[in-house]
Amino acid sequence: MIIILSSAATKENLTHVTQMLQEHGYGVHLSEGVETTIVGAVGVPNDAASKAEVMEQFAALPYVDKVIPVTKPYKVVSKQFHPEPTIINVRGILIGAPGFVVMMAGPCTVETEEQLMASARAVKAAGAHILRGGAYKPSTSPYSFHGHGEPALKMLAQAREELDMPIITEVLDVRDVDLVCSYADILQVGTRNMANFPLLTEIGKTQTPVMLKRGMAATIEEWLQAAEYIASRGNKNVMLCERGIRTFETYTRNTFDVNAVAAVKELSHLPIIADPSHATGRASLVNAVSRAAVAAGADGLIIEVHPNPEKALKDGAQSLLPEAFEKLMRDITPIAQAVGRHL
Ligand code: PEP
Ligand code: MN
Repeated sequence: MIIILSSAATKENLTHVTQMLQEHGYGVHLSEGVETTIVGAVGVPNDAASKAEVMEQFAALPYVDKVIPVTKPYKVVSKQFHPEPTIINVRGILIGAPGFVVMMAGPCTVETEEQLMASARAVKAAGAHILRGGAYKPSTSPYSFHGHGEPALKMLAQAREELDMPIITEVLDVRDVDLVCSYADILQVGTRNMANFPLLTEIGKTQTPVMLKRGMAATIEEWLQAAEYIASRGNKNVMLCERGIRTFETYTRNTFDVNAVAAVKELSHLPIIADPSHATGRASLVNAVSRAAVAAGADGLIIEVHPNPEKALKDGAQSLLPEAFEKLMRDITPIAQAVGRHL
């Protein structure tokens, strides 16, 4: 349930509500806006009271405006609980800010220092804000490249220093959360790990911003529940990433679900990033799908860029050459402007 306090409610009133909820066994989350304070109660009553009775008790308090039952299986990430958009500050870059579209770009995988730096310099010169690069690579095939691990994290950190760009990189394994947090500005949770609940729980105990990719066969509701795992543990710096879902189509690697971009905006306050590279699997389609995502309201894009896609160890077919990335930046600028945003 969600309890909306009246604008006259005092700090003592809030403490009282919090204590009452805790006595019933609820977890408490606060959303303090300028005008109103919203109290989110998570869990079920641990005493004899039914949920309806507890709701009535709260509604009886003079400083409570409204008590709303939440029928959705997520609360903390829902728009009901937090009507204002979440804005995540990553080294001064405001992800989710209504007027701004963030661009993350770089290679799929950190291969060598030369390859990483060539890609990083190119995306920086074209105007990207954040550098991507995988150090730990999830793979459907056990025989393909799995990333260089910590040495690759070190190369990313060096690129951050040199180019003054925050870095996003995937954390694959619950045992690596502390290590990856010590390098990354944003953790990425890949599609194959969206439902790795121990990993989500562990990330929820940190305060490192995290981009949670949608499971390739996950519904929007399952994806938001996965985000709830992280946010309800205390890490509210969550952004979502639509990276395409499995359909019967085989021409493209996945199917970009533009519905999901609009639906997330309707259901949640979390920023939504689009990944047209993995959604299409084809470099030739990335530009058009990026424009569609921005037009639909995406708060950012994450794009794979490689100096020599034909030599890439992973995802070469979907990786843009630096020139194509530059063109993409030019092409999305008027689309962003048309929807009241800038890059
Ligand atoms: C990636 O970003 O390179 C990646 C592996 O993405 P996904 O988890 O969406 O497949
Ligand atoms: Mn990739």
